[in-house]
Amino acid sequence: MKGVITIAYNNLEKSIETKNILIKKLNKAGFEVSENIEENTELLISIGGDGSFLQAVHKFKFANIPVIAINTGHLGFFAELCPEKIDKFIDAYKNKEYFIQEAEAIQANISTEDEDIRLDAINEIVIKNIQSRTVHLGLQVDGVKIERFSGDGMLISTPIGSTAYNYSAGGSIVDPSLNLLQLTPIAPMNTNAYRSFTSSIILPTSAVISISPEFEFENNILIVVDGKQYKFTQIEEVKIYKSNKKIKLLRLKGYEFWNKVSEKFL
Ligand code: NAP
Ligand code: MN
Repeated sequence: MKGVITIAYNNLEKSIETKNILIKKLNKAGFEVSENIEENTELLISIGGDGSFLQAVHKFKFANIPVIAINTGHLGFFAELCPEKIDKFIDAYKNKEYFIQEAEAIQANISTEDEDIRLDAINEIVIKNIQSRTVHLGLQVDGVKIERFSGDGMLISTPIGSTAYNYSAGGSIVDPSLNLLQLTPIAPMNTNAYRSFTSSIILPTSAVISISPEFEFENNILIVVDGKQYKFTQIEEVKIYKSNKKIKLLRLKGYEFWNKVSEKFL
């Protein structure tokens, strides 16, 4: 039976063009190509930028198959291949010249007055005000009260997501071999009236972070998961902790995280 490679792509002209070339080349190399996850899918290829990569991971519900991305977008931090290197990639893939880098997801359990909702994230989960106003949130870690946060919001990032929104918000870039949760404040207020940590705090992956909107904010909370926003009414508590989901990033031989960081950020 032929191996199946599942592809996902955004609707940029460059992505469609790349998709058509990729399908031809994969077929020629003996693979079947599908736009769905089949029983014998062995690899997922996303074509686009990091945003499309995140969308593909969510679309296929964190399927337990290796994933690689071809960058036709802007930054392409996740997306390590460029369209010009498709031939090289197919050879390397057939010769098994790659390794798998696992990245664990985090999850939010949102308790509202009526329901409990679970959302998983590969980059980060952000809790902020639904409008452009400050938000007041109680923060507990493992049942211990840490602070009453006031500011734009709080962001909880995975190591793999540390180079995204987390970094813009002043959080640290984390080596992906470390397992941890990073909680980064977004524009925290620090005055006589309000006190919050001004830097991120680093927690073990065993930690349970609990964020509760203060009185009158239950209906004003926006939860943003890997860039996708969700609104719920009467939010009582959002618990954030390590998920049992993970993704398997296929990395070609020679991939090195800190090389990539200096190449993309400096
Ligand atoms: P977007 O607005 O296009 O993404 C913002 C930028 O983040 C893009 O350049 C994207 O790369 C890059 N990016 C995504 N994941 C990354 C990662 N793990 N490491 C380094 N850079 C990364 O929206 P999007 O493409 O749908 O991506 C969603 C992500 O945007 C969210 O998960 C969040 O991290 C990020 N975001 C950042 C800010 C900020 O920095 N102030 C604000 C909101 C959201 P591509 O150009 O290749 O897509
Ligand atoms: Mn993008």
